[in-house]
Amino acid sequence: DSLFSGFSKTRENLAVIDELLLYWNLSDTDRVLDELEEALLVSDFGPKISIKIVESLRSDILAGKLKTGSEIKDALKKSVLQLLTSKGSKTELQLGYRKPAVIMVVGVNGGGKTTSLGKLAYRLKNEGVKVLMAAGDTFRAAASDQLEVWAERTGSEIVIAEGEKAKAPSVLSQAVKRGKEQGYDIVLCDTSGRLHTNYSLMEELIACKKAIARAMPGAPNEILLVLDGTTGLNMLPQAREFNEIVGVTGFILTKLDGSARGGCVVSVVDELGIPVKFVGVGEGLDDLQPFDPEAFVNAILS
Ligand code: GDP
Repeated sequence: DSLFSGFSKTRENLAVIDELLLYWNLSDTDRVLDELEEALLVSDFGPKISIKIVESLRSDILAGKLKTGSEIKDALKKSVLQLLTSKGSKTELQLGYRKPAVIMVVGVNGGGKTTSLGKLAYRLKNEGVKVLMAAGDTFRAAASDQLEVWAERTGSEIVIAEGEKAKAPSVLSQAVKRGKEQGYDIVLCDTSGRLHTNYSLMEELIACKKAIARAMPGAPNEILLVLDGTTGLNMLPQAREFNEIVGVTGFILTKLDGSARGGCVVSVVDELGIPVKFVGVGEGLDDLQPFDPEAFVNAILS
């Protein structure tokens, strides 16, 4: 399936582990574990996680708990899965019971925000959800046009800025009010992703969040940060900054189909304690997948 093929580059990177473990024997442990650590590092699991995993395998091997290559492989998969699930945060969208639920999508330009928003609208519509899109990237003239194309493609309604001076918070608040009045299930809010010199993107996002909350107490229900999967570990400082300022409830990691750095999925969850909710594994409408930790582990370490 597409999750499997989406992670094929990361899997290729990690395939060396199978060869290593096929011929593993006790006397070879140090060399094999060194190379295994290297494979994890190359796939952007990050030094902290790579060392933690390898040291835990080493102590289990020395304690006689792992006796074959395939037992080591299973233990490796188990520890990656544990890293992804131990923080206990939910990978499913948490939308509450009041309608409309509001999802605010944030992230810097070029990361795949608009595409992910479109794909998410498509997915929700297929589930029978009534979706209203809101074009809250009022800085970039082309952004609204691009989102309108996605609205058309997915058969969704959209609220766009009226007049050149319309500000993002007022567009989003208008959309949420319309969502309430017209019985929408979900309002999907796009936001700006450009870093301005004289105007802070983060201030803008805070203003958007407040405007949404004023229009609908308790909202936004989700603030999803879109991160470019090809940047690997470099996404960490960006994830931290967005989280400190707007409070991120979940990640969408995009372009993982073009990236051999899929280990960053694990490091971003471990470092921030925030779940990955969706992964982008291609450019098609269907290529935004709900993140399933177990399927992910099987896709990268099959
Ligand atoms: P934005 O500036 O953050 O809104 O970024 P866009 O949504 O316009 O995406 C930038 C580019 O990345 C576009 O060419 C998208 O088709 C592409 N893209 C987005 N998500 C994915 C993905 O999951 N896989 C691949 N291969 N390309 C993607």
